[in-house]
Amino acid sequence: MPAIGIDLGGTDIKGAVISDEGRILHQDLVSTQPESGADGVADRIVGLVGSLCDTHGVTLDSTSGVGVGVPGVTRKDGTVVIAPNLDWHHVPFRQMLQDRLTGSAVELDNDANVAALAEAKAGVGAGCDSLAFLTLGTGIGGGIVVDGRVHHGASYSAGEIGHMVVIPDGPFCGCGKSGCLEAISATKGMISHAEKLIDDGLVTSLKKEDLTPKSICDAAAEGDEIGEATVDHVARHIGIAVANLINILSPEVIAIGGGISAAGSLMLDPIAASAETNTLEGMFEHTRIELARLGNDAGSIGAAYLVMS
Ligand SMILES: [Zn+2]
Repeated sequence: MPAIGIDLGGTDIKGAVISDEGRILHQDLVSTQPESGADGVADRIVGLVGSLCDTHGVTLDSTSGVGVGVPGVTRKDGTVVIAPNLDWHHVPFRQMLQDRLTGSAVELDNDANVAALAEAKAGVGAGCDSLAFLTLGTGIGGGIVVDGRVHHGASYSAGEIGHMVVIPDGPFCGCGKSGCLEAISATKGMISHAEKLIDDGLVTSLKKEDLTPKSICDAAAEGDEIGEATVDHVARHIGIAVANLINILSPEVIAIGGGISAAGSLMLDPIAASAETNTLEGMFEHTRIELARLGNDAGSIGAAYLVMS
């Protein structure tokens, strides 16, 4: 039975009819218009669900229901505790959707958890039982799937891989702590590391004003000293986090996605090398470390799996 997956973002709401093998059968998007408030956003999601069903020629009753990936912190009861891009605080969003979609299953979860679920079910980990997912971009999102389900833990907030401390008293992180992986290996940390090396006077083709993860990776690919040193620094610390995940969880798959992972093996190989160095003997070879496969489709595919049995 297909399900409807909704990827709620600050700008767009993407929706798709997803087959029970995790394929996109039909997709569409509408603008989020967060200024219309949570009620307005709920109405727009319901409208999108209706048009997806109509266009695909199914009734909502003949689907497994509607799953939603939310850019924020969620709770088991379906409350969105905080979603900065939507300016939401303690919004009982699942209930608001359930009131509008009476009789259908409605579930929601954090967007990184949902992407992890997608990769575990239909992406690089298809068929696996356990997977950890990291998405490398302006932040570092994370999600953990154990026994085919998102692991939420006692606080319901498990999987914050980006806030694993990898350098005690290291760079300041947006979460208020210091030395988190995100502060070192996401966009801002990557750029400040390259800036520091430029200030140190190393020879480079990179210019401070043009630094982006892509320009740094491109320079590294051409053998630029600062490009290579920055990629090594970023990848080494991701590898430490990956090693810790392997030591603690021993997942079948660790999937690496997000914009910075577009550099492919240039980033993945040193991550794996660092992870191997830092993993306990006899564990590393049981985990595949690979690039995520579903890209931007992971949001809607994973959301649909929230309501598939
Ligand atoms: Zn942090």
